[in-house]
Amino acid sequence: ILARIKDVCKRNGLLILSVLSVTIGCLLGFFLRTRRLSQQEISYFQFPGELLMRMLKMLILPLVYRTKSIPIIKSSKASSESTTRRIIIYGVQDENGSNVQNFALDITPPPEVIYKSEPGTSDGMNVLGIVIFSATMGIMLGRMGNSGVPLVSFCQCLNESVMKIVAVAVWYFPFGIVFLIAGKILEMDDPSAIGKKLGFYAITVVCGLVVHGLFILPMMYFFITKKNPIVFIRGILQALLIALATSSSSATLPITFKCLLENNHVDRRIARFVLPVGATINMDGTALYEAVAAIFIAQVNNYELDFGQIITISITATAASIGAAGIPQAGLVTMVIVLTSVGLPTDDITLIIAVDWALDRFRTMINVLGDALAAGIMAHICRKEFIKDGSFCMRSCTKA
Ligand code: ASP
Repeated sequence: ILARIKDVCKRNGLLILSVLSVTIGCLLGFFLRTRRLSQQEISYFQFPGELLMRMLKMLILPLVYRTKSIPIIKSSKASSESTTRRIIIYGVQDENGSNVQNFALDITPPPEVIYKSEPGTSDGMNVLGIVIFSATMGIMLGRMGNSGVPLVSFCQCLNESVMKIVAVAVWYFPFGIVFLIAGKILEMDDPSAIGKKLGFYAITVVCGLVVHGLFILPMMYFFITKKNPIVFIRGILQALLIALATSSSSATLPITFKCLLENNHVDRRIARFVLPVGATINMDGTALYEAVAAIFIAQVNNYELDFGQIITISITATAASIGAAGIPQAGLVTMVIVLTSVGLPTDDITLIIAVDWALDRFRTMINVLGDALAAGIMAHICRKEFIKDGSFCMRSCTKA
């Protein structure tokens, strides 16, 4: 038995450390709240968590750039173009009229909006814009033949070096998570001040996320791929914990990518495309939370919603989630679209701010889960094309 435990610990060391760090972070945070630390002391305490966030953000740009160019250069034009088409259709299937405009603006970014800033949130990266730029460049480099070789080698070196940095950085993550979570708990308002209604609202959002994450998404995965979703979800547990700790699906990208490749053996080219696009436009958790929050705000104001308005809320919540960046509390900002669509007071967003920092963590987990499962589904759907292409990944093919 001891040998087995040792083996499990060795294989899942990082995952076990991450689970422990979330637990220690929560305990430490609630314990230190009783000590009434000064603002200065809290900011020192939050420093290791801040470093973790910076480390993750540092990796996004090279990761997205290199993950998009190389596979396009390597795969044939026909297969990469049809895969691109399918992925975009999967991601924007719920798009409404006004958001198509934003979508088009996002995918053709001038350099100054590579980092786009959303009011009330930290700066976010226009991942979608970088994805499209890198994909276009990848196609062109593929067509250039020999003269494109130096840049292709550069991308390949970048590829390897980024993955090496990720492999080292992940050992810092458990330590950073402790301070990230504890720091947030120290900062939050007095829980007793949060009303009963707000408590019910939070429980409703969490229940909805649980149903979506544990039943609907896994069932979709199962019906399409005929594979066991539990095995798949187990493979991305570490990414889900990082999402819980960072509240950012973009910041979680490097880890989601690593988990999909190493644990779930998803074809590299699919993961490289689906994850960055998904982290930008496929936000199941955010859409769900925005719809519940709008209904909550209507109830607080004694505003009776008819069936048509509830449908409007669900459609605009989906569209607004596509517009939200993969950064902490971005969904809170795009909530304005949902509230305006049914004439609810936008100022009432302040009502839900008190619990949003916590709900954001759970919905980010579901966003990351949705992206990862989408990558698994796309890898399954596109597998035949890659086989035709002759350059498919042996491991994922054996699995399929
Ligand atoms: N924090 C979420 C994410 O990064 C976005 C949001 O709903 O605020 O996916």
